[in-house]
Amino acid sequence: MKTIKCSQVGGGTCTFEASGETADEVRTKMGEHAQVAHADMVAKATPESMAEWNTMFDKLWAETASA
Ligand SMILES: [Zn+2]
Repeated sequence: MKTIKCSQVGGGTCTFEASGETADEVRTKMGEHAQVAHADMVAKATPESMAEWNTMFDKLWAETASA
């Protein structure tokens, strides 16, 4: 299982963490969290910024050690 912190993927000082076995599982949890907690960021998201976010997330996921 890996844990990704919202603050690692652009969430600023947000303390939310999402854990899961697969990148897609955690990506979905982070997306659901963002819809609620970072609605302003979600509203401003563009296809380009979403693609950048996904790239950042995938890189972070690959670099994060399983626990
Ligand atoms: Zn957050």
